[in-house]
Amino acid sequence: MGYDVQHWIDGREETGGGSTQPIMDPATGAEVGTLHLGDESTVDRAVQVAADAQKEWAKVSLARRTQILYRMRELMIEHTEEIAAVISREHGKTVGDAKGEIARGLETLEFATSITQDLKGGFSQNVSTGVDAHTLRQPLGVTVGITPFNFPAMVPFWMHPVAIATGNAFILKPSERDPSASNLVARLYQEAGLPEGVFQVVHGGRIVVDALCTHKGVSAVSFVGSTPIAQHVHRVASAAGKRVQALGGANNHAVVMPDANIEFAASQVASGAFGSAGERCMAVPVAVTVGDAHEAFMTAIAAEATRLVVGPGDDPSTDMPPLITPEARERVIRMTDEAEQAGATIVVDGRGLVVEGHENGNFVGPTIITDLAADHPTYTEEVFGPVLVVMHVNNFDEAIELVNSSPFGNGTAIFTDSGHYARRFEDEVQVGMIGINVPIPTPVGYYSFGGWNDSLFGEHHAHGPEGVSFYTRQKAVTTRWPAQNESVESSMSFPTHD
Ligand code: NAD
Repeated sequence: MGYDVQHWIDGREETGGGSTQPIMDPATGAEVGTLHLGDESTVDRAVQVAADAQKEWAKVSLARRTQILYRMRELMIEHTEEIAAVISREHGKTVGDAKGEIARGLETLEFATSITQDLKGGFSQNVSTGVDAHTLRQPLGVTVGITPFNFPAMVPFWMHPVAIATGNAFILKPSERDPSASNLVARLYQEAGLPEGVFQVVHGGRIVVDALCTHKGVSAVSFVGSTPIAQHVHRVASAAGKRVQALGGANNHAVVMPDANIEFAASQVASGAFGSAGERCMAVPVAVTVGDAHEAFMTAIAAEATRLVVGPGDDPSTDMPPLITPEARERVIRMTDEAEQAGATIVVDGRGLVVEGHENGNFVGPTIITDLAADHPTYTEEVFGPVLVVMHVNNFDEAIELVNSSPFGNGTAIFTDSGHYARRFEDEVQVGMIGINVPIPTPVGYYSFGGWNDSLFGEHHAHGPEGVSFYTRQKAVTTRWPAQNESVESSMSFPTHD
């Protein structure tokens, strides 16, 4: 039914594996397409093709690689409308939001076009008399990216431009929920002149993921998704000897100080909590009001939530789209029910929302919960929906303690007018990405993205300088060119540098 999405291997679409699964429209609940799922043999074929392609690709000049990436950037911009429409249909997010994620993804591509700078090694003349030293950065080989449903363009773009620019082949295993954008990107890479096999797409679930993580031809695995699967991928791929970066889930807190501009803080927290129905790893599902900030913040955030228009992603008047699946919607409703049963106050209730004409869509309205115990799962776990839990504390130190009590450490924000507290906040929180009066502090493409604690397993953050480190290995070369008749003293003792 509808369209067919196949693997992209060696420059063309092919089926493989044999099984299929439907692709659904979250706004209508209708089946719109069919996804072909791979298996071990699909992975094996893609890895063989990638390994052959990578050997040649690593020899291609940095100038040529850069030209291809520039062309790819132009093509992505030309095709933004088309890709955004596909993302909106399969993911549900608004077309505007889909365009936003494409633009943020392109930042990393733009960063990768300056790879000529980032692959420069070091050089030291005369480390010993007549001896020089220099370093090389070389690609790893075949690299793999496994990505979540919530950013079907941007998150893969955190990986493949840097992997490719540094001379690797890249196999993308996108989410089964919204797979089409990855195939469009593959076609555009081909049009940009990237040799076949350097960028490939294999679709599937656990079987494909495990086959990629353990295949002897794969050198490195980048993963972004939920914490339990990040831990699984990190464990399995590390045990198989791969370099691994596995970015997991989040439960980001925004602290609102009494000295903050409360109206501004509420509008920013609302965009963080309810934008894209809360299905962002840098969403703000928790606000922490400090002292006197509470009352004014509750009034302002309730006003922000109730004015939001919930509807399908292709309607320009929509502020908040549906959730990805009926299960995701049921989870939000269940976790709100459980909070209520535990005595919490449901300040704004999105559970009963029906969007006219879209009765089978996965819609739930913005929800605000307060008076919830700090050990309740609706606060401690990642809900991944449009639910804001407001926790109240007495002072700044209690706010820091609460932020640091979360097992996650992806992002956090503080809203304040005080440089003193802002500076203490960035120093004392155990979190990888921090916003000061910025609700979703996603670093630009030429910095690196990554959380701490249960939000990242592995040593490297994504893209930017850490991306270059992740996708390359260093060699240190020591060189001496004695003259033909020169005698160099040799000794059996360990060499020292004179
Ligand atoms: P998910 O963990 O369910 O899926 C991620 C990927 O893993 C998909 O490609 C999926 O096919 C695969 N997968 C799923 N189950 C698997 C299994 N049992 N074994 C092997 N592979 C499996 O995540 P999702 O629901 O697609 O995305 C939402 C999650 O991603 C949220 O937890 C969100 O916080 C997280 N996320 C994190 C970041 C970050 O930067 N830290 C960014 C975006 C999303």
